[in-house]
Amino acid sequence: MNKAIEVIDLIKDFGKIRAVNGASFNVSEGEIFGLIGPNGAGKTTILRIISTLLQITSGEVKVFDYDVRKDASEVRKLISYLPEDAGAYKNLTGKGYLTFIAKFFGNGKEVREIVEKGIEIADLEERINDKVDTYSKGMMRRLLVGRALMIDPKLAILDEPTSGLDVINAQEVRNIIKNSVKRGTTILLSSHNMLEVEFLCGNIALINEGKIVEEGKPVELKEKYNASNIEEVFTEVIR
Ligand code: ATP
Repeated sequence: MNKAIEVIDLIKDFGKIRAVNGASFNVSEGEIFGLIGPNGAGKTTILRIISTLLQITSGEVKVFDYDVRKDASEVRKLISYLPEDAGAYKNLTGKGYLTFIAKFFGNGKEVREIVEKGIEIADLEERINDKVDTYSKGMMRRLLVGRALMIDPKLAILDEPTSGLDVINAQEVRNIIKNSVKRGTTILLSSHNMLEVEFLCGNIALINEGKIVEEGKPVELKEKYNASNIEEVFTEVIR
C-alpha cells in the first residue's frame, strides 16, 4: 500500500503549550484512518498541520510524498479539509456556496457536475436554496461535508465530521464517507466518538496529551486489551 500520510516525530508548540508532543503515524492510500482522543489532545492541531494551515515546530509530515513545509502548494491540490467549526460564507445560499467553491476546481460543465455532487452529498433538499446563515448546526455540517467531498479529493481531512448531528444524520454522513472511499478518496478523520470510529475506520490512533498512545485496527486493539469496545481500550491505555 502507498502511504498517503507520513507523520514523523511531530511537535507543535503554541507558546508554552506543547499541543503535539512527538506524534508519529502513517495512513495508507485508500483507507479511513481515525484519530481519537479527549478534548485538547491535539487532534485538530495535527489535522491543521497536515492541511498546511499551521506551521510545524519540529518533525516531518508528508502527504503523498510531498513535504507539507516545502511543497505546501502541491499538498493543497490533493487535499480537502473539513474544519471543526464552519466559517462559511453565510450570506450565500447553500448552492451558491458550493458553486463558489466548485469554481476553484473546474470550469463550466465541470462546475455544474461538482455542485450537483455536493448537493447530493449535503442532501438538504429544498433548503439548499436558503441562505447558509439560516442553517442549523447539523445542516451546516452536512453542507461542509458536501463541500469537502464533492471534488473527490485524493485525501479528505475531516475534523469531527459528525459533530452536532443527530443519530440519523450522523449515520448518513458516515455512509457518505464510506462511499467517497469507494471513489478513491483516502480519509483521515478525528472524533471523540469511539463507537463511530470502530464502525468507520480500518485503523485508528489513540491520542492523549499530544502523544499517540496506541495504534492499530479496532478489532485487534479490542483483542489486545481484552475490551468490548474502543472506549474500554482507551481507558486501559491511559491507565
Ligand atoms: P477537541 O477535541 O477539544 O477539539 P483537540 O484534540 O482537537 O481537542 P487541539 O485543538 O489540537 O485539541 O488542542 C491541543 C492543545 O493545543 C490544547 O491545549 C489547546 O488549548 C492548544 N491550542 C490549540 N490551538 C491553539 C492556539 N491557536 N493557541 C494556543 N493554544 C492552542
